[in-house]
Amino acid sequence: MVEAGAESSLPGTRIGLFGGTFDPVHFGHLRPAVEMAEQYALSTLYLLPNHRPAHRGPTGATTPMRIDMLRMAIGSAEHLAVDSREAERNKPTYTFDTLQEIKAEQPEATVLFFLGMDAFAEFDTWHNWEGVLELANLVVVNRPGAVHSEFSRHLVLRQQQACGEKIVNGQAGVIESCDVTQLAISATDVRRRIASNLSVRFLLPEQVSEYIAAKRLYRVNG
Ligand code: ATP
Repeated sequence: MVEAGAESSLPGTRIGLFGGTFDPVHFGHLRPAVEMAEQYALSTLYLLPNHRPAHRGPTGATTPMRIDMLRMAIGSAEHLAVDSREAERNKPTYTFDTLQEIKAEQPEATVLFFLGMDAFAEFDTWHNWEGVLELANLVVVNRPGAVHSEFSRHLVLRQQQACGEKIVNGQAGVIESCDVTQLAISATDVRRRIASNLSVRFLLPEQVSEYIAAKRLYRVNG
């Protein structure tokens, strides 16, 4: 379900998608998201939680909880919204299929798919990654400690030769990098701290950490 900005777009409109597990969402997602929306003048940046088996373990977050936390975290932030279509499906969904759906819904929009450098380094493991590049531009976000793989470095060079270096409205296939404020926060580290009974204050929004505490999430490693 798309919660905002689903109206048919006008030519020149840019929308962004930022996929992930968001288990839980943290400031390492949120601050870059604000900067992505600003730097690319996006009408909306949709945070797109992925499908994951309903429960990761007795104290893990369920899919509805991951979505609740995302909605809470975003609040009324301008130009940010949650697109829960993948998470709410009861089977794995490929980015390629989601992009096809979104292109059908918003045919005039330029679609920018954002991903952290760690995710981009493994892009060759994605289902039909070449098809993804036919539907969207990719924007690779720097992340502390994450570096190119041999595959991703070559792919950037290949795409720059084929499509140029700058995202132009309506074009797909461009891969660009985006500098954002570097925050060395990961969901894995947040979960580990909670499991070890350590504070997660200032790593994620207060409301989200209160929700995690109330639901007793992530209290066991795994
Ligand atoms: P986990 O530790 O469970 O693997 P994560 O913190 O990496 O989770 P994901 O939900 O897997 O978070 O990430 C969603 C997207 O956000 C990915 O593209 C990832 O590269 C990016 N991302 C996550 N954390 C950061 C960060 N601190 N800075 C920049 N990008 C990030």
